[in-house]
Amino acid sequence: MQTKLYGQTGFRASILGFGAMRLPGDDGKTDPERSAPLVRRGLDLGINYIDTAHGYGKGNNEVAVGYAIQGYDRSKLFLVTKIPVGSEEDAQGSTWRRKLDLSLERLGTTIDMILFHGLRWNVYETLLTRPNMALEAARKAQAEGLVRYVGFSSHDSAENITKLVETGEFAGMLVQYNYLDRHTEPAIARAAARGMGVSIMGPVAGGRLALPQGTLVDTEGALEVKTPEVALRFVWNNPAVTVACSGMNTMEQVEENAAAASRLDSLDDQERAAVHALMEKNQKLADLYCTGCEYCMPCPNNVNIAENFRYMNWFRVWGMEDQAREAYARLGKDGNWVPWVGGGIIHGLKADACTECGECLSKCPQDIPIPDQLKDVADTLGQPV
Ligand code: SF4
Ligand code: SF4
Repeated sequence: MQTKLYGQTGFRASILGFGAMRLPGDDGKTDPERSAPLVRRGLDLGINYIDTAHGYGKGNNEVAVGYAIQGYDRSKLFLVTKIPVGSEEDAQGSTWRRKLDLSLERLGTTIDMILFHGLRWNVYETLLTRPNMALEAARKAQAEGLVRYVGFSSHDSAENITKLVETGEFAGMLVQYNYLDRHTEPAIARAAARGMGVSIMGPVAGGRLALPQGTLVDTEGALEVKTPEVALRFVWNNPAVTVACSGMNTMEQVEENAAAASRLDSLDDQERAAVHALMEKNQKLADLYCTGCEYCMPCPNNVNIAENFRYMNWFRVWGMEDQAREAYARLGKDGNWVPWVGGGIIHGLKADACTECGECLSKCPQDIPIPDQLKDVADTLGQPV
């Protein structure tokens, strides 16, 4: 297992983190007995960074993680959990501290890094930094030895994540980054440059990214890699990334991801170049269709043209058929949130709201026949998953 120094903590973290969110359970409640063998196998294979959250698994995810690590040398693990601060009530120091005490009880141990869960810049600016709010409470918990470091997770824009980085308040962060969604790249680079640890969520785009045949083969047939491995390798190849947290829920995933994280250095330059070439080829195919520039928007009928085409690219180029249909089904619903892309809520309507008025046509530098293509999107992605 490859390891990397996590920011300035002095801890050498495994480059593969165990994302606990998807651990097995019933009715959304994580089951410690079924989860423990997966986590323990990961630890036995060299994973030493575990990511959970106060709210995961109906509160039982932390219990499952605490149970799984019993008997392991605690000093060799880096345990991360998250507490939300999104509302005025959640951001109160007293509320946050109550939740922290509960997390500590569930985990049965101290916390290496506590993250403000889903932190947005405006929450930091207007709530968190006031007296008696969560940031102050987190510093107090640090002084008491209950948590070692304070960080954040965020789905905010790259610009706002960079602002959070520049405050200098945080030891580490957890943000979205994968080869379908690179919008956080500048923030990641800045965080690393400032000495923060950088953890990545969604490195394999929802954990299910797979091309139809399940493997990528280069033109000479010299390289054959499983697509989740390519996705992880893409993330690890960014030198600013410390840990890629993969949400694993089968023994096979744990074994395969751990093997990929151990093999990383054995890829020679030629193989590395081939993996990049394959991904670039796919990206070019995707860009031929639509680059996502959004020059065609806004549409008078509020169709989110670029987002519809993005899902069509997932379907056609990346082979993510289920994800594309699922994301399409969510478009236009209140509070729509697509887990494989950053930036949180996505606005605008599905392709089927296009009235073929033609207003967007002259604005597209790719000369895409937008209304015709939207019809195709509606027909293809409008099928049930
Ligand atoms: S043709 Fe369709 S997508 Fe384009 S502006 Fe008109 S309604 Fe919107
Ligand atoms: S202008 Fe053309 S390329 Fe740009 S987002 Fe719209 S359809 Fe895609």
